[in-house]
Amino acid sequence: MKPINEIFPHLSSEKKNVIITFHQKPDADAMGSGLGLYHFLVQFGHEVTVISPTNWADFLNWMPGAREVLDFETHGDKAIPALKEAEWVFCLDFNILDRTKRLEPLLLKSEATKILIDHHQQPSEKDFDFGASDTTKSSTAEMVYDFIVESGHGDKINAQVAECLYAGVMTDTGSFRFTSASSSVHRMIAELKDRGLQHSIIHENLFDNFLETRFRFFGNILLNRMEIFYEYNTALIAIPQQDLIKYHVKTGDTEGLVNFPLGIKGIKLAAVIIDRGDERKSSFRSKGGFDVNTFARKYFNGGGHFNAAGGKNSESLEEVRNQFLEAMKENKEQLKSYQF
Ligand code: 5GP
Ligand code: MN
Repeated sequence: MKPINEIFPHLSSEKKNVIITFHQKPDADAMGSGLGLYHFLVQFGHEVTVISPTNWADFLNWMPGAREVLDFETHGDKAIPALKEAEWVFCLDFNILDRTKRLEPLLLKSEATKILIDHHQQPSEKDFDFGASDTTKSSTAEMVYDFIVESGHGDKINAQVAECLYAGVMTDTGSFRFTSASSSVHRMIAELKDRGLQHSIIHENLFDNFLETRFRFFGNILLNRMEIFYEYNTALIAIPQQDLIKYHVKTGDTEGLVNFPLGIKGIKLAAVIIDRGDERKSSFRSKGGFDVNTFARKYFNGGGHFNAAGGKNSESLEEVRNQFLEAMKENKEQLKSYQF
């Protein structure tokens, strides 16, 4: 993987067919960095198509351009020809191609130049021609901002670019609370504010736009499905598929659930395992020195960041829950050594 600055001269020299994609079930960082980059690149006259491997949460649809994003699972008829024409494929907010689900074989086959912009650990560098991978960065949206500024085209940060990038940085830093909210993040946001960004509207769009059913679902889950293992400083929520059906849970509705058990005093590791039917999807969060990236890689075919990671399993919910309990016991010493 060559450094991303080698593509800077080509941004303005010739018009390209460009695809932008990101991880399945995109969050605000994936969608925001993707659309922020989209609104930047189209200003050079490039033909740009954004493809999401799967659908996404309704609360992302306020983003400028979100309604033009192609869902690969339902709009393969448009996405496949666009991919065939592509000269550049930007891959955002994921470190390995299997995060793009059924898009993966097409990306592997594509002869387009693949460009990675990502902040996850241990990227599969061999799959990308150019790239920027930096685990110290708060978000992929921050990296797209750096990409724009370092390319010498900071003047192209218009309202659409700013709104999309803000959404990514704000959500991936937990509204600027995580240690990743560095001074450069705050300088970036100050710059966006100086360009007229109205941040509180974005906050409202993302966090005050849920249906009642999501909160009824959370209430039920916290009451009936949350298990606390104080001797391991660990909390687990395992959600059977019937709960998702009963409460009409939609894509994105479970985002943030894992933060509730993590908010309990003394809890160092929180996990949510959801039976999504086709697979068991897990989310891990930790406080302090417990490395959930390694934990997710070792036991749950996943990965992510030091304090936030995820995984997936084909086994039944009960089996994955048992695997989690075993893994928790194996890590007893580390989990017990938590300082309050
Ligand atoms: P979440 O729990 O919000 O779905 O994901 C937390 C972090 O872990 C995100 O940065 C996400 O990209 C990463 N992640 C989630 N699921 C997986 C997975 O199955 N594989 C890998 N490699 N990373 C994942
Ligand atoms: Mn991210």
